[in-house]
Amino acid sequence: MRILLSNDDGVLAPGLAALRTAVADIGEIHVVAPDSPQSAAAHAITLQAPLTVRKVQLQGGTAGGFPALSVDGRPADCVRLAIRKLLVPPPDLVLTGVNAGANVGVNVFYSGTVAAAAEAAMLGIPAVAFSAAMTGTVDFPRAARLCRCVLNSLLKWGLGKGDFLNVNIPALGPLRPLGVRVVPQSTAELTDDYHLQSSGPDGEVYRLGDEYSFAATDHENDVTSLAEGYVTVTPLQVDLTDHRRLADLSRRNWASCLP
Ligand code: MN
Repeated sequence: MRILLSNDDGVLAPGLAALRTAVADIGEIHVVAPDSPQSAAAHAITLQAPLTVRKVQLQGGTAGGFPALSVDGRPADCVRLAIRKLLVPPPDLVLTGVNAGANVGVNVFYSGTVAAAAEAAMLGIPAVAFSAAMTGTVDFPRAARLCRCVLNSLLKWGLGKGDFLNVNIPALGPLRPLGVRVVPQSTAELTDDYHLQSSGPDGEVYRLGDEYSFAATDHENDVTSLAEGYVTVTPLQVDLTDHRRLADLSRRNWASCLP
């Protein structure tokens, strides 16, 4: 099996090296990742500039590190360029992460880690995004070994064309995670805030604060289960259509909209 690894924290991020090490024996591993941190790049791609690909070495392995490619673009650039041009034949599976920080709830819309996996799904290749909740530091090797356990099960049960899963590892204390929960993505709003840094005659300067939480929800989802200490698995899909609303709006008479 040919596997492409990517991330949004940059090619030299410890989570990527840990994932590379954790999946080393599964198949032929290729790494194509951004040359700089791209967290919250979401699904952006680079239209206005060329993309430069460079050979780099990841820490790990036995012979002075793993070979990898860096791209001076976004996470989705890396995956689409790798699938379209750099890997011949294209990979059978795309893995992204292990991201430094959880990607649950509405944060999946901002996450480059999730977007890189989504890009693979859009190109028909199964993909899994891995992220680890941060509490100060992350034990990436341990988080990556847990990701590998989840991946083993997913591979055993079968990953098909376009399958796209979001996996989050809870903050790891001395104890094991409480288990694995398959849960829906929370849609609870973020309670973050913009802080005024300065104001003057020309305008104002705001910065998004680091602190955020999610509004409360009354059902089990990725946010609540991760906070309780479970590994969360959420199957996502590229189709954002609200099919209930689609059915409703399809029945309406739109004739009066036309002049
Ligand atoms: Mn990140």
